[in-house]
Amino acid sequence: MKTVAVIVAGGKGTRIEGKLPKQFTEIAGKPVVVYTLEKFELCDSVDEICLVVPEDFLSFSQEMVNKFHFKKLNKIIPGGEKRQNSVYKGLLAIPANTSFVVVHDGVRPLVKVSKIKESIRLCKECKAVILAVPVKETVKRVENLSVITTLNREKLWSIQTPQTFDYILLVGAYKKAEEDGFSGTDSSSLVERLGVEVKVLEGDYDNIKITTKKDLIFAEEILKSSKK
Ligand code: C5P
Repeated sequence: MKTVAVIVAGGKGTRIEGKLPKQFTEIAGKPVVVYTLEKFELCDSVDEICLVVPEDFLSFSQEMVNKFHFKKLNKIIPGGEKRQNSVYKGLLAIPANTSFVVVHDGVRPLVKVSKIKESIRLCKECKAVILAVPVKETVKRVENLSVITTLNREKLWSIQTPQTFDYILLVGAYKKAEEDGFSGTDSSSLVERLGVEVKVLEGDYDNIKITTKKDLIFAEEILKSSKK
């Protein structure tokens, strides 16, 4: 039973100073997405990796990864306009005999290998598993800078990646979303609307999505201390 990781790094956001999209920004001489790829390379439950990058960074990405000699990375493909399009392109590019697919953001290099492994193990039992952490702050619904309501924090979780699914289920969910013109901010939301139960695996607060310069500094500290 083949398990394939689809690492989406097809965003063009350059919110961090500099010209390169944030997934290619270097931390201690290595691009963010390379740290991410290393986690999946190290996870013995993952058989293959497909990397999705912006179309105009295809040859740049190929040259970048060549230096690191990944054994599992056997496909680098161009992404789409939105994250959802990039994931779908990845799903259609991986082998048809894939059983499980792990979708992960290229800009989350701090994910733990043990959590990737656990999400795949759970997925074999229940078909859909997402990583999440309980929210630490009080969350309110706000409109025009006025509070509408305070939500019950006990039931609120912040959703991360990896998100791991039965392959056929996920491809079907993406196909249906496209047909219906549905757009979601994560893969799970596309599966949830089919009425399929999605299980939550408690993750780590460190597994941040690198967005700002401060996130990069935080990631550098964690990556340095994890080498000690
Ligand atoms: O900024 P956002 O939350 O959309 O980014 C999450 C992940 O999705 C990032 O790794 C980013 O590179 C990726 N992405 C993508 N294709 C897009 C937009 C984002 O693969 N069109």
